[in-house]
Amino acid sequence: MIDLHTHTLFSDGALLPSELVCRTKAAGYEAIAITDHCDFSNLDFVIKRIKRITKILSSEYGIKVIAGTEITYVPPVYISKAVSLARKLGAGIVVVHGESPVEPVPIGTNKAGILAGCDILAHPGFITEEDVILAAKKNVYLEITTRRGHKKGNLHVASLSLRLGASMVLNTDTHEPEDLLDLKKINDTLKSAGISKDYLKTMTDNSRRLLR
Ligand SMILES: [Zn+2]
Ligand SMILES: [Zn+2]
Repeated sequence: MIDLHTHTLFSDGALLPSELVCRTKAAGYEAIAITDHCDFSNLDFVIKRIKRITKILSSEYGIKVIAGTEITYVPPVYISKAVSLARKLGAGIVVVHGESPVEPVPIGTNKAGILAGCDILAHPGFITEEDVILAAKKNVYLEITTRRGHKKGNLHVASLSLRLGASMVLNTDTHEPEDLLDLKKINDTLKSAGISKDYLKTMTDNSRRLLR
């Protein structure tokens, strides 16, 4: 299992990076990205500190750990600048907090995240066809999420992605230990999103591609 969207105490998660990684290892994960919520106020602080520990955790717990970020509620016109800054600071995975159906995320965030060339557009909700086509063209992965609330958009995201050729990844958006992946959660999420079990391999391969 690979999960490229998780949170720690560095934003609104419940666990320290060390505990999160140790628990994901115990749950059978092969790789995890730590992607705490960031805007311009904390990007440098968070990425620098997560990077401080990823190498130790990777080698001691035998699981690939990537320092990333989730650019969150940054006004759309500034998203490109935030994504560039995150990369400059060494983020290995840059997620943008998309237009979830259960939050007042600014309209235009999905498009700005895709145009900025983020790696993953998280919970893009009722994303437009035009933006799905753009994501396919820009190689931005669209997220299918196991997270309550956000997952209301899964069926829409999956059907447009499959039809229009955009690539998807499966993430948990973990904030607490009980959010971590298990087989039941994966199967339930795929089923409610209208994605066949066979397609999971393609999604896992997509995640693996992002790890390189
Ligand atoms: Zn988010
Ligand atoms: Zn998140």
